[in-house]
Amino acid sequence: MPSYRAPRGTRDLLPEARAGLSRLEAIARSLAARYGYREMEIPLFEQTAVFERGIGEATDVVEKELFRLAPRTEDSEAWALRPEATAGLVRAFVQHGMHTLPQPVKLTVVGPMFRYDRPQAGRYRQFWQWDAEVLGDQGPAVDAELIELGWRFYNEAGVSGVQVLLNSIGDAACRPAYLESLTEYFRANAPVLPELERRRLETNPLRLLDSKDPSMVALIAAAPKISECLCADCAAHFSAVKAHLDALGVPYRVAPMLVRGLDYYTRTAFEYYRSGAEGQQQALGGGGRYDGLVELLGGRATPGIGFALGLDRVLLALEESGVEAVREAPPLAVVTGADPADTVTRLRVASLLRGEGLAVRVELAPRKLSRQLETASKEHAHFAVIIGDELAEGNVQLKDLEAGTQRLVPLSDLARELARAAKSHHHG
Ligand code: AMP
Repeated sequence: MPSYRAPRGTRDLLPEARAGLSRLEAIARSLAARYGYREMEIPLFEQTAVFERGIGEATDVVEKELFRLAPRTEDSEAWALRPEATAGLVRAFVQHGMHTLPQPVKLTVVGPMFRYDRPQAGRYRQFWQWDAEVLGDQGPAVDAELIELGWRFYNEAGVSGVQVLLNSIGDAACRPAYLESLTEYFRANAPVLPELERRRLETNPLRLLDSKDPSMVALIAAAPKISECLCADCAAHFSAVKAHLDALGVPYRVAPMLVRGLDYYTRTAFEYYRSGAEGQQQALGGGGRYDGLVELLGGRATPGIGFALGLDRVLLALEESGVEAVREAPPLAVVTGADPADTVTRLRVASLLRGEGLAVRVELAPRKLSRQLETASKEHAHFAVIIGDELAEGNVQLKDLEAGTQRLVPLSDLARELARAAKSHHHG
């Protein structure tokens, strides 16, 4: 017999873990609704070009981590699984002419993303993100609104001590000059650069600031800072974002070397960390402004900003801090019967209750009633419905397993009785 396992870098979410993820998804959806975002879906895969153009070919995500799908025929298009949602959402924004909607357009997606990365703690090949995007508003107030939304998510999820790292990475007016001075600086240090970084210097010098090579730490610390090169407009935008965050009481720290690996970012860039866990692999989420992206993907120039929050890392953080996992509720009632063989009647009664919106389990094994009731007690069901001879007069026994009492109830009243009991039980 072969023994099959989930693919490397993926994991099964067993019911308990799935319940934890569902809880986060519910918080995300509730917040999205409160903040005026509309949920939508985009495909799990796109033409590879959407990611190559929209994320940038000289980025880790595209160069190393893109999960490419093998084409079935020679002339079929090149596809890749989505490594993030922004590029696909912007592709959809352009495709459906959403620039004609009242602006800004606030969109959200919750779902799995795929990166063909080397698996390690908190880094999977399939992981979940909550993504939120605002298109058609150049900020800066909307930047702060979005950053506060992400911060509130961590609070509501129960992750304590989350801090925002904040930077501005300039725009088309001031970044070129900064890139030039950055390139110059690293070129002057070329002899001590690791081989990989020397190559990156020619394609995307910003990526050197993201380098994970330990020998780069000192060099990066002494590199020119974008914050010192911002043009007047970018500097004013950055101050206004900070002023709005101050007013909202969101704790942030300016991080001059925070650049994000993606080409399309302009001005505001941010990441969420738990304080004390600011290592490379530990970002809980991040995002930024991308005023050039819509145009890059064929739309008319439209400013945008968004974030992607990694839900797997939130689950890990909650686990580490000992926050209790979601407990699954026991069934309200178990339908049992005195005649072990009469599964037809038990199933019919259960179906009736389920049709009324009640969560019931039905005993379908042909076992003695005493054993059926034992199991019901063990799983902490509140009630057992017992079907016996009384059914001839249209009645069943309703046994309260918690109180140990039992009474006769007309079948026609059963759903109402159970619903009332469930309500008073949960609210009292
Ligand atoms: P990024 O677009 O790379 O900034 O990703 C945004 C967030 O998604 C990160 O801060 C992580 O929380 C999460 N994330 C990114 N890649 C992975 C991965 N391979 N496994 C799990 N979470 C990830």
